[in-house]
Amino acid sequence: MHLEEMKKEIENLVLTKGFYNKPEDIPKKLLFAFIELGEASDAWKKGQPQEKIAEELIDAIFYILDASRLACPTVNMDEMFQYKLNKNLGRPYQYGEGHRNQQEEPKK
Ligand SMILES: [Mg+2]
Repeated sequence: MHLEEMKKEIENLVLTKGFYNKPEDIPKKLLFAFIELGEASDAWKKGQPQEKIAEELIDAIFYILDASRLACPTVNMDEMFQYKLNKNLGRPYQYGEGHRNQQEEPKK
C-alpha cells in the first residue's frame, strides 16, 4: 500500500469513527503523533515486544498522514516521499550532524 492509498484508508477510518476532521484539528493530530512516538519510545525502554513498538510507530504514521490529508491536501505524498528521498540522498555524508566532529567545551 502506498502513502496516498493509506491516506484514503485513514480518511475512511476518521469519518467512520467520528474523529476530528477539520483544518483546525491539525495541531491536535500532530500532537497526537508526538504522543504516539512517546508511546513507542516507552515501549522500547520497557523492553516490550517489537510488535508493540511497531504498533505505536504505525499510530504515529496514521496521525501524520491524517494531518497531511487536511494540511496539504493537494500534495501527493508518494511523490513528496520520492522528492524528499532524492533531496536527502543528494546531501553530504552525515549532513546536519556537524556536532559529531565538534569537541566538547572543557568543563569548568
Ligand atoms: Mg498508541
